[in-house]
Amino acid sequence: MSAAGPRRGRSPAGGSVAAIAASVGVQFSGLRGALAQQKSLAKYTSWRTGGRGDTVYVPADRDDLAAFLRQLPPGEPLTPLGLGSNTLVRDGGVRGTVVVLHNPGAVLAVADGLIYVDAGVACPKLARFAALHACAEAEFLAGVPGTVGGALAMNAGCYGGETWRYVVRAEVLQRDGRFAVRTPSDYAIGYRSVRRRDGAPADGIFTAAWFRFPPGNIALARARIKELLARRIATQPLGVPNAGSVFRNPEGDHAARLIESCGLKGHAIGGARVSEMHANFIVNPAGMASAADIEALIVHIRNTVREKTGIDLEPEVRIIGEAA
Ligand SMILES: Cc1cc2nc3c(=O)[nH]c(=O)nc-3n(C[C@H](O)[C@H](O)[C@H](O)COP(=O)(O)OP(=O)(O)OC[C@H]3O[C@@H](n4cnc5c(N)ncnc54)[C@H](O)[C@@H]3O)c2cc1C
Repeated sequence: MSAAGPRRGRSPAGGSVAAIAASVGVQFSGLRGALAQQKSLAKYTSWRTGGRGDTVYVPADRDDLAAFLRQLPPGEPLTPLGLGSNTLVRDGGVRGTVVVLHNPGAVLAVADGLIYVDAGVACPKLARFAALHACAEAEFLAGVPGTVGGALAMNAGCYGGETWRYVVRAEVLQRDGRFAVRTPSDYAIGYRSVRRRDGAPADGIFTAAWFRFPPGNIALARARIKELLARRIATQPLGVPNAGSVFRNPEGDHAARLIESCGLKGHAIGGARVSEMHANFIVNPAGMASAADIEALIVHIRNTVREKTGIDLEPEVRIIGEAA
């Protein structure tokens, strides 16, 4: 749907743009994205479950997102979502506005020896683009099924690679709709963690980044991508809805090993189940799990591992919204 003006178009959820805008308390104008109200977020998460967003906006591009934010009342709660591959949306849904940032048409380019990428690009696309441009070390991104924005927010990593190691600078859209440029030195960056230097959560929405990967070889990079994907297919339950590793690995150990050692593989609550293939994955095999089932299983795993091993596993997945 094109939200070209407040009185034109129908939202994907069926309400008029004007009605939706009125409910948020603003008359939007000049938008090119898709605006919807009370829209299920299940299809925007890799667990394929969860509640609705009060208002959901899918921007056409970064300028459109900026225009949207400039018109959104400052008090309106705002939640960015990429491909939802690290997110559990509770069944009661998310109050305020959710912006869905994955954009298959987003830009990837080589500029001044760096790779420029819009945050809405999926990580595997960046990995293949880097390989095609004879870069090394971007291969790890081929198996991360999120957006570049999500990878920046999470400092996604695997197989020895980590997103921020290769970031030269990133563009952030602030809540007031203005862009700012940040460099790695603006953040305290750690294992699956990107915070401001003062310890506060990173603010704003990542809209783009410039990466520098070391020079490599096209054939070698492609072969490495193939090898890493084969490794994932052999070890992860990729055919059923999941959100990757649910818990962070504790220092010097693996969450999957601890969960397995507690006999939890295959343990199920409602439609949610600890994967038999990888104990740190919770799967939704029949697509029937509620977010409450998944969250209850997360709590059960955490309690059991704590009781049996004394280790408190910390969730890596982000849980948002309200219980039903
Ligand atoms: C099969 C599978 C395998 C996985 N393997 C790995 C792995 O090897 N390594 C790894 O690190 N992760 C892995 N993950 C988890 C996930 O893919 C990563 O965390 C990924 O970076 C999340 O990106 P996303 O776009 O899906 O983020 P989302 O789940 O949509 O969001 C995650 C968080 O980032 C925030 N966010 C999203 N976009 C932006 C933005 N543009 N600006 C600011 N904040 C934003 C959200 O608000 C949320 O808090 C895996 C997941 C699956 C399903």
